[in-house]
Amino acid sequence: MATFWRHECDTCGYAFETSGPHEFFMDADGKPADYGHPLAKSHEAESAGISGFYGRMWCLNLDRSVDVVIREFVHAVGRYDDIWSPGAHPEKTVEIVCPDCGDGSPVMGDLPHGESIPCPKCGDDLICTVIKWS
Ligand SMILES: [Zn+2]
Ligand SMILES: [Zn+2]
Repeated sequence: MATFWRHECDTCGYAFETSGPHEFFMDADGKPADYGHPLAKSHEAESAGISGFYGRMWCLNLDRSVDVVIREFVHAVGRYDDIWSPGAHPEKTVEIVCPDCGDGSPVMGDLPHGESIPCPKCGDDLICTVIKWS
């Protein structure tokens, strides 16, 4: 159910990719980790259950990819627990910010800037295209 985007600047060649939402679980250290899709990619993930979704976003401030939690369930749920329907399970309030620098507008697809994201290198608009869904 994730979408993969490529963002590219026609003028200077700056480019990056973003994708999401992806399922995550809380690992033994209490940190969000990739759950796998469509099925758990490890026994650890499967037994932990899905804690929510993250986006593989791009921080324009740090100029690199960051994983940002988008939705988080109050309690971890199972793979087949209707995870995609909003409101099916109680959720925590999450703030979508870069976990590394606190920037409030990490990029995922056309969020949060809309169609035109200014290129951090030259200021022209980045072109955003969908690569695939999976
Ligand atoms: Zn950042
Ligand atoms: Zn550029």
